[in-house]
Amino acid sequence: TVRTRIAPSPTGDPHVGTAYIALFNLCFAKQHGGEFILRIEDTDQVRSTRESEQQIYDALRWLGIEWNEGPDVGGPYGPYRQSERGEIYRKYALELVEKGHAFYCFCTPEELDQMRAEQMARGETPRYDGRGLLLSEEEVQRRLAAGEPHVIRMKVPSEGICVVPDMLRGDVEIPWDRMDMQVLMKTDGLPTYFLANVVDDHLMKITHVLRGEEWLPSAPKLILLYEYFGWEKPQLCYMPLLRNPDKSKLSKRKNPTSITFYERMGFLPQAMLNYLGRMGWSMPDEREKFTLDEMIANFDVQRVSLGGPIFDLEKLSWLNGQWMRELSVEEFAAGVQKWAFNSDYLMQIAPHVQGRVETFSQIAPLAGFFFAGGVQPDKALFAHKKLSDDQVRQLMQLILWKLEALRQWEKERITGCIQAVVEHLELKLRDAMPLMFAAVTGQASSVSVLDAMEILGPDLTRFRLRQAIE
Ligand code: ATP
Ligand code: GLU
Repeated sequence: TVRTRIAPSPTGDPHVGTAYIALFNLCFAKQHGGEFILRIEDTDQVRSTRESEQQIYDALRWLGIEWNEGPDVGGPYGPYRQSERGEIYRKYALELVEKGHAFYCFCTPEELDQMRAEQMARGETPRYDGRGLLLSEEEVQRRLAAGEPHVIRMKVPSEGICVVPDMLRGDVEIPWDRMDMQVLMKTDGLPTYFLANVVDDHLMKITHVLRGEEWLPSAPKLILLYEYFGWEKPQLCYMPLLRNPDKSKLSKRKNPTSITFYERMGFLPQAMLNYLGRMGWSMPDEREKFTLDEMIANFDVQRVSLGGPIFDLEKLSWLNGQWMRELSVEEFAAGVQKWAFNSDYLMQIAPHVQGRVETFSQIAPLAGFFFAGGVQPDKALFAHKKLSDDQVRQLMQLILWKLEALRQWEKERITGCIQAVVEHLELKLRDAMPLMFAAVTGQASSVSVLDAMEILGPDLTRFRLRQAIE
């Protein structure tokens, strides 16, 4: 059976790129009556979080993407979370050392820095020079026994060409001298992406790997690992990356990249999925609007075109409008209720509004911004007594950057971000708050802006700040 997978790292907001790759893997598997697996690649202990993992599940499910096996649904080849598979990777790393395909390296970070500095001084491209290979077996054993910190690196050929068979491009030739002696097992005993990915795809019986094009340059290392282990490698397919309208790689600086943003903006999941399906792919009859089932029924990976697909908010909005108009009135009303007028959301807003109104009818003018995507604040609201327009923009930009890095979206932490920026600029909180207020609520007075930011969540708050700066 055909088995495909998505292997996201839970290190940030759930990315539209993840949903796009998931969709194509799902379609490919289902078209062949196969299975689609979700594996969590959380070997980066510092950056991975369980919240982010949960957000990936929620975002994919919101879109209507389901998986046959995964950390949360189980399956015969688990565990599906790499942090729970440490012993497995250890065993295979040692196997490679025994077979002579990998070796121990005891270099300290300082030693590696010095090596690179010397190489650069000689005008060479810095790369690991293979010094670990020069150690005698006795010395290696002695240093291991002494408990010296070490990594395990893979050997790579220093010359020749690696042929990467790609389902879309045919054979891609990559010279071996571009590959470094990749670390497979880090000092902390955890595997790197390369080792864990190959071991898991093999043990989880993955037959086809559709992944982002960004991984194509390092494909030779994966291929070599399959050969070292003597395993059959899966079919490889490198998908074109999503792009901003200016053709650069989709980035949150230019386009919201979090799936949760699109949910909070009130897009329909089926329209979003439809749009992702049109990224580099089209229906045989070129129709623009189609469901997931229709996409699966007509799927052919060879129809993926390599020119970078452009993820354009305006096109997505247009398509969403098509879907909106085809909902029944009942479905539309239910959608509105679920999106904003659900009791969960209203209960967050109510405490801040109740004391400020005399009648229910005053709620809309006071708190309408809670039920909007962007807002249109009057330019005059950003006039500042002390700061020039440029300084105002700079202040807001610095706050936005701080908030983009904020992982736990809570009122105190939001305040902390703003505080840190104003202190850095030797300003006061009261210099920044009216600006935040204008950007986030779009009006001159309303509920407390910090409460508003907490309730609106990171996606809409950042979006509005970005709009105010532009
Ligand atoms: P940003 O530049 O917006 O910060 P990023 O490149 O840092 O994004 P990552 O966290 O590295 O994003 O990637 C998250 C997931 O999304 C990865 O699986 C990655 O392959 C995928 N991804 C990121 N950018 C794109 C893209 N432009 N097209 C397709 N997939 C992408
Ligand atoms: N963890 C990798 C990522 O987040 C997986 C890439 C792959 O599909 O091999 O992009």
